[in-house]
Amino acid sequence: MPNHLKTIGLLILLLIGGIIGHLHWGWFFVFVLCFLLVEFYGAAYINSGYHLKALCKAETNEKVIALTFDDGPDNQTENILAMLRQNDVKATFFCIGHKIETKQDILRKIDKEGHTIGNHSYSHDFLFDLKNTNQFMEDLEMASQKIENTIGKKPVLFRPPYGVTTPGLARTVKKLGYITIGWNIRSLDTKIKDKQKLFERIKKRIKPGSILLMHDTIGGTEIVLQEVLDYLKTNNYKVVELHKMLNVKNYA
Ligand SMILES: [Zn+2]
Repeated sequence: MPNHLKTIGLLILLLIGGIIGHLHWGWFFVFVLCFLLVEFYGAAYINSGYHLKALCKAETNEKVIALTFDDGPDNQTENILAMLRQNDVKATFFCIGHKIETKQDILRKIDKEGHTIGNHSYSHDFLFDLKNTNQFMEDLEMASQKIENTIGKKPVLFRPPYGVTTPGLARTVKKLGYITIGWNIRSLDTKIKDKQKLFERIKKRIKPGSILLMHDTIGGTEIVLQEVLDYLKTNNYKVVELHKMLNVKNYA
């Protein structure tokens, strides 16, 4: 049973209990507020697994880590690709369907260089989570279709835009058979301008089995990436492919 239905069930039980026990009406307000807070937390934090189970790390003691880049294909993607090539490591790129329309050559390059491409929705719009199940299905399939038309492979890995999950999205992902991928190191590279601070933030969070989230849309990310790769090497960490680390398929 989905978690949010359990929460609704619990709320109803509390309400019945409240009515029988003649609780003050103010308590009902408190119940509803708690419910909304739990729902909001569950939707906003992908690691909570509240609405949708997402793989956010690998359970391992081995010093391995997987790199992921969101929101491409973009103008910065080629800089990231060059850096990955120089260091001989593979990553996963969660790409946005509508961006592929004008950047098919970059998508092909990501694939040709041996990296994995995942689905990061077609629209990736701010109001993505207000869609109903049919609209989610249409959006996700459109993105996968763009990827398949360009590289000839259908992605299995899906990362929700902004990491936000809802019951409708959970139903869609289950129906379409995607594997949802989160992260346990959010670099905040789109917000933190100071590259040294950014590196420190990432460094502190590195653990065996980590999934690092970065973006191939920000100029200078490749410099921080090189610092991270150097740090990993010095500390005997191995950069591995995400799907292999999680023991799942990357394409259908
Ligand atoms: Zn995104």
